[in-house]
Amino acid sequence: MPARIIDGTAMAAAVREELRPLVSRFTARCGRPPGLGIVLAGEDPGSEIYVRNKLKSAADLGMRADLERLPATVTLDEVIEVVRRLNTSQAHDAILVQSPLPDALGPEAEQAVFDAIDPRKDVDGFHPANVGRLVQKRPTLVPGTPLGILEMLVRSGIAIGGRRAVVIGRSDIVGKPVAMLLLHRDATVTVCHSKTPDLAAVAAEADILVAAIGRPGFVTPAFVKPGAAVVDVGINRVSDPGVIARLFPASSPRRADFARRGSLVVGDVHPAVAEVAGALTPVPGGVGPLTIAMLLSNTIRAAENRE
Ligand code: NAP
Repeated sequence: MPARIIDGTAMAAAVREELRPLVSRFTARCGRPPGLGIVLAGEDPGSEIYVRNKLKSAADLGMRADLERLPATVTLDEVIEVVRRLNTSQAHDAILVQSPLPDALGPEAEQAVFDAIDPRKDVDGFHPANVGRLVQKRPTLVPGTPLGILEMLVRSGIAIGGRRAVVIGRSDIVGKPVAMLLLHRDATVTVCHSKTPDLAAVAAEADILVAAIGRPGFVTPAFVKPGAAVVDVGINRVSDPGVIARLFPASSPRRADFARRGSLVVGDVHPAVAEVAGALTPVPGGVGPLTIAMLLSNTIRAAENRE
């Protein structure tokens, strides 16, 4: 039987509707809406789209959302200066610095900027104080993507406690925090990466398999235990027809999409996995929309904590 497809778009809409009255109540009580400040440096096309969606989603809920736009030539000190200004701003409860920063700032810049954010306003949960609190299972601001993954599993009625979870990918943004959240929910968690031997065999032990790799269609049916819940975190823009041919049969409507647009966004999970898995999050329309909804949830949380 083909996998149940978990509709992230509908689930994110439901989360946003639950947040709406919280925003109204906060605004009535405090005489101002919850405020989110987004810092965008440079002109990365993907970041432009992400930031636009975040600003629009926040404004739709009645939040204040401000964009601090900086040129690609900005210095690290200048980015940190903007962060410090937002740290002390009365109107802003939440700060997000869009990743990636311009390459010219160097590999250490991103963490230096995250370190400068007031941990109480750090809605991406990248400040070391928040990472530490997550590890210690204390209340904290947790990154949106892992939080969204948990939300999808819980809302889909997928049991976590006592089950085997395998996470492929060990990034600070997805792999490590989602592993921690699953562990806190009493899953037995294995984290895999590029040096893991027999990766497919390890993955195939999972009741819950999370793929956060950044490689189109990497997780094939050989990685999946029949009936497992598979969460596809990957967002890969593919313009190579050979890759598209490997992923989609000639009759697939996505082939026609590709022919029309010249590129497609695909996940880390091969579409054939739908024939083996019990449940599957699609790309697009899976984890992505939940990530933004959880950012909004974190913004309200930061605002309430501050007041
Ligand atoms: P990342 O920092 O590049 O990490 C990728 C991870 O995958 C690394 O741990 C890497 O292992 C592992 N990996 C790479 N090749 C592998 C292989 N052949 N076998 C096993 N493991 C391999 O990426 P990320 O930031 O976590 O993002 C992962 C994907 O999720 C990307 O497609 C990204 O666009 C997407 N994403 C989506 C959202 C969303 O909202 N849906 C949010 C964030 C990211 P090593 O550590 O050994 O190098």
